[in-house]
Amino acid sequence: MTTIRREGDKIVLPGLATAHSHAFQRGLRGRTQRRAAERGSFWSWRGLMYAFAERLDPASIYDVSRLAYAELALSGVTAVGEFHYVQHQADGTPYDDRIVLADAVVRAARDVGLRICLLRVLYNRAGAGRPPEDAQRRFSDPRVDDALDDVAAIAKRFAGDPGVTVGLAPHSIRAVPRDWIREAHAFAEDAGMPFHMHLAEQRRELEECIAEHGSPPVRVLAEDGVLDERFVAVHATHLEADEIAALGTAKAFACICRTTERDLGDGLPDAAALSSAGVRLCTGVDSHAISDPFEEARAIELDDRTRAEGRVVAAEAPELLEAACENGYAAIGMDGAETLDRVALDAGDAALLGAPDDQLADAVIFAAGPRSVTDVNVGGRSIVWDGEIPDWHDIRQSYETAVARLTTK
Ligand SMILES: [Zn+2]
Repeated sequence: MTTIRREGDKIVLPGLATAHSHAFQRGLRGRTQRRAAERGSFWSWRGLMYAFAERLDPASIYDVSRLAYAELALSGVTAVGEFHYVQHQADGTPYDDRIVLADAVVRAARDVGLRICLLRVLYNRAGAGRPPEDAQRRFSDPRVDDALDDVAAIAKRFAGDPGVTVGLAPHSIRAVPRDWIREAHAFAEDAGMPFHMHLAEQRRELEECIAEHGSPPVRVLAEDGVLDERFVAVHATHLEADEIAALGTAKAFACICRTTERDLGDGLPDAAALSSAGVRLCTGVDSHAISDPFEEARAIELDDRTRAEGRVVAAEAPELLEAACENGYAAIGMDGAETLDRVALDAGDAALLGAPDDQLADAVIFAAGPRSVTDVNVGGRSIVWDGEIPDWHDIRQSYETAVARLTTK
């Protein structure tokens, strides 16, 4: 049970984790919301994201990620699971230092003071029998061993930093062959690492999965024995009842990313069914369309209310807080570390005034926002004071310069 308490004029919580992030996508904010020639969809958004990703380099991915992480810290987030899929140069050639982009992203988080789990993505193809498209070449590896060697190299480079963990993330059942998933899972098991996958985010992926494997994704993964307590299903949106049950039996996680799922028109995961099956829920800022850990948590319940036309459907506030704190940390290989971190909210913030002491979690989850956050401390280091972050001026300027360069026509 997550401890939340009043301390003088503050309301204090443990650390808050966002278990699924693509920090560079922060640079797309405000740039993808207009109607285009074709009907807007996840896939048209993906085209805009690819065009941006194609131009990243080690310096600009650092500058954009650092701003994204600074905004998360200001919003009360202390730990991030970065699902990192831009690995190589734009034409697919590895950099001389093969992990230079992963290194830049980890440094960006650590320079702000966040804990980070670098989830090194595995990517190999556009779809069944189709090689990577041009924009996907820099995400892709020809051999699974290349990707696994990079995972080991990243883990070795940051072994001395207790604020860094490393995990594996086959991008999706579309983007990797089945034997890669099995091999990556065996690696994760040996190394004791988290194992994340985008799962059932879009209906088109399901159709492709059934066409290739004869079954929807969770059944395929269950057959291959990769569902377990380290497995994090990101989105878990379009699932059959037996798939939800299988995730629950495995004590897997579902990382729900409602603000992004709404933004991309992904559909609505059945949070109530996932939760009652025993799946551990956690949350993710994902595309950084907005950065608000309180909204991510309450949206799990509030969006389910919209579907159910009822109240208190998926989870009460203490469970939603647990999703944002303990479960989020556990999903990124930092079990228990949330108690070493501290987020203080202003009890006098207009959003929280009058919060009943015996239901503080309810007031915080259903009404707090980034504005309520005053102080954030990670493992004894203060990273936000009085709602401000040191180096903000420099972080902002480097971000603006990088985005101007990345978006120049
Ligand atoms: Zn994602």
